[in-house]
Amino acid sequence: MPFLKCLKTLAIIPALFLVATAPPADPQKRETLESLLALDVATAKIGYRIVTANAALCDQRIPASGMLLHGIEQYGGEYREAAARVFGLGEAPGVAAVLPGSPAAEAGVRAGDAVLAINGEAPATIASRQGKGDFDRMALVLDQFEGALAAGPVTLDVVRDGERRTLNFAGLPACASRFQVQPSTELNAAADGRYVQISSAFIGYFANDDEFAAIMAHEIAHNILRHRDRLDAQNIPRGFFSKFGKNAARIRETEIEADRFSLKLLANAGFRMEAAPDFWRRFGPEHGYGIFSDATHLRWKKRVAMLEAEITALRQSGAGSGA
Ligand SMILES: [Zn+2]
Repeated sequence: MPFLKCLKTLAIIPALFLVATAPPADPQKRETLESLLALDVATAKIGYRIVTANAALCDQRIPASGMLLHGIEQYGGEYREAAARVFGLGEAPGVAAVLPGSPAAEAGVRAGDAVLAINGEAPATIASRQGKGDFDRMALVLDQFEGALAAGPVTLDVVRDGERRTLNFAGLPACASRFQVQPSTELNAAADGRYVQISSAFIGYFANDDEFAAIMAHEIAHNILRHRDRLDAQNIPRGFFSKFGKNAARIRETEIEADRFSLKLLANAGFRMEAAPDFWRRFGPEHGYGIFSDATHLRWKKRVAMLEAEITALRQSGAGSGA
């Protein structure tokens, strides 16, 4: 990372300079922040590939830029100061990462850029709640940024190494979903209509990118098919009372739909459809009686059989033949 590299290559700089420079973040916090960012980037890469390759299948679209933004407010407690040092984050939202080959990358946006203005307007702010990290302000900034992209090419004013730059780019058509990694030891993924959330432990469980994509595609499918809206319209409760009777049956219906649709999303994005049944065949025997085992989801063997039958049907109809 830049800071460590600086210390190494600038070892002959007079001590006075080093004193004037902020001390490095404690190595453990740095490692935690950097590994969380790596998970964010991995998730964004797979999500970006799925939502851009399937734009034609979505009626709700948001242009994708391939740029990950973050703000100091989302880092809570003892991590706030470390995030400021590790990522160079100040008051302005920062570019956490830029996906290779994306519109933002081609426009010259770089990780570490601080965003001063979007189409000439300062990024949204919000009264900060001291200490506790939350995503409220960044959700507003993302609304602002995506709203600007939806209207056409965007002008971004950034500061890099103390120098102001103006960068212009247009987004790529994409299905509307935002991606978030939840630091958690639980193996879980969820979709709420807008966000797709996946736990850090779940990402660690995937054998390869195709399995990772299979789970992401399932959650993105829930958003594309507006399952949250449908269940809300039917007054289906979440949580404990969703696990029984008619409620469970309605939720299970959306789960099967999401599984079937996810295979098309995978094939269109060039991922292996077989990664979906492969994943459940591996996960099922180990965790089949955990969170995915109540009546809202198919038992894993049935799920594998259903996915395999669907893949056969899709292949016969010519879909996914290149994957
Ligand atoms: Zn689901």
